[in-house]
Amino acid sequence: MNSSIYNYTKKELEQYFISKDLAKFRATQVIEGIYREKVKDFQDISNLSKDVKALLKDDFIIDELSVEKKSVASDGTTKFLFKLSDGNLIETVLMIHPYGYSVCVTSQVGCNMGCAFCASGTTKKIRNLEPFEMVLQVLTIDNMLALEDKRVSHVVVMGIGEPFDNYDNVMKFVSIINEQKGLAIGARHLTISTCGLVPKIIEFSEFPLQVNLAISLHFATDELRDKYMPINRKYKLHELIEACKYYYEKTNRRLTFEYILLDGINDSLADAMDLVELIKGLNCYVNLIPYNNSDTFKGILRRTTETRRDAFFDYLNKNHINAIVRKEHGTDIDAACGQLRVKALKEKKEI
Ligand code: SAH
Repeated sequence: MNSSIYNYTKKELEQYFISKDLAKFRATQVIEGIYREKVKDFQDISNLSKDVKALLKDDFIIDELSVEKKSVASDGTTKFLFKLSDGNLIETVLMIHPYGYSVCVTSQVGCNMGCAFCASGTTKKIRNLEPFEMVLQVLTIDNMLALEDKRVSHVVVMGIGEPFDNYDNVMKFVSIINEQKGLAIGARHLTISTCGLVPKIIEFSEFPLQVNLAISLHFATDELRDKYMPINRKYKLHELIEACKYYYEKTNRRLTFEYILLDGINDSLADAMDLVELIKGLNCYVNLIPYNNSDTFKGILRRTTETRRDAFFDYLNKNHINAIVRKEHGTDIDAACGQLRVKALKEKKEI
């Protein structure tokens, strides 16, 4: 087998030990060893017998991500450019909040969704990430924090890629990092963000863990959304909203709608009215995101002004839609949305 140990859920490791005629509690010992004691060699898991260590060594590897680049912003936001074993680059962001340390995870190398405002979409998907490659993004950062007696408390799947275009691997990743004896990221501290793959939203409604769902809505009419988000040509807004209602009925969990305010494009009061019409009655809140100016769209897209943002925000509130303006992190290091990877590829002249 000889595959990454970080690809396995506790259940799968238990099955592995049972298939070797060994007690299944060995799985917990391995999980505690690699995620809590942070061993890099099965030899160092003290409570395993010599034979079990040898067996594990034959069948699994404890792999690592190599840090290609690390940039720290003035607010402490840290962006990692990691190199995967096949040479592909991915980026992961650590954000410091009053409530803890949150990691923004990449789910694919590149992205096929082609949203017109997103730097990640300018490079097509090369491949999906395997569960262990997502686990390692969180673990590598958790290992660094552990040196200062801190830990990753929150995870958002909002890095490069569309998580619902890599559904099975992302769900497995979520189960692995949720494991109590391992990284123990609570389901309510986990958020998956999608641009709106309707069948997957419906499938996700059945997912057993209480993970949060965020929808990158950004536009409240089909006309605009078709123009900027190609996924809308496949699943129209009414289908998306139906899927959100279904998700709420099944899970009773409040949804988040993300809405990037783009100057002169979707930030007028008429746009705010369309948004209220679209989502009223849904148990949700709206996250108003300041558009991160990126070189890729220089001269084409700009963030809204503060006055227009505040007017938009007030209109939503007056109409009983809960809204917040997302606090920005790491703007001085291009921490947003695939910008670092794009920059690195450009420097290497790969795009
Ligand atoms: N594909 C998923 C997750 C990755 S994108 C999704 O679409 O939700 C994470 C979030 O960043 C999305 O809401 C996306 O629309 C937003 N985003 C992309 N480019 C941005 C930019 N330049 N400024 C602000 N937010 C951006």
